[in-house]
Amino acid sequence: MTGATHRLLGMSVVLGLAVAQGWSPLQAGAGTVIGLAVSGGRLSPDMDQFRGWRLADRVLPDEALGQGGPMRHRGLTHWWGLPILVAATVPVVPPGYRWLVLALLAGWCSHLLGDFLFGRADARSGRGPGIPLAPWWGHVGLGLDTGGGLESLVRSVVLPAAVLWQSLVVMHADRPLLDFLSGVLGD
Ligand SMILES: [Zn+2]
Repeated sequence: MTGATHRLLGMSVVLGLAVAQGWSPLQAGAGTVIGLAVSGGRLSPDMDQFRGWRLADRVLPDEALGQGGPMRHRGLTHWWGLPILVAATVPVVPPGYRWLVLALLAGWCSHLLGDFLFGRADARSGRGPGIPLAPWWGHVGLGLDTGGGLESLVRSVVLPAAVLWQSLVVMHADRPLLDFLSGVLGD
């Protein structure tokens, strides 16, 4: 999945959580910014593709741990166990701040979902498609084509529509729009 699709999916998942949890528009807005930050790019699981990480991967002998090492792309940062560990801390977070952790988790996990769906196997390293079931090996995923027709449909139509609709719901502005649409359609 490309970066732009990851970020849109991150926004949509956080907004869905905001709707489900009844967050205020301010919380939903701040949560969406967090989701945007951790669903794609340097602060997301794809931090394993950036310069500092790649450099560290070349220097550190993590390959000695087997299976290509935890620092490889779609390795440890893409393991579902990390967000589970963070989720385990939620009960000790003061209730007023839990939404921040939940937004972080939702954005991060949306990236894992995206990579589970999209992304072919890497023949060169022998890595399978998707995300690791074990900490950095045993990849599973649907292996849909990154940057293919389905992803571009999701990125250019499905997710923008979802994010727009969810934003309206969060701002409690969906009712006037529905009334307007039903007026236009002349029911
Ligand atoms: Zn990724």
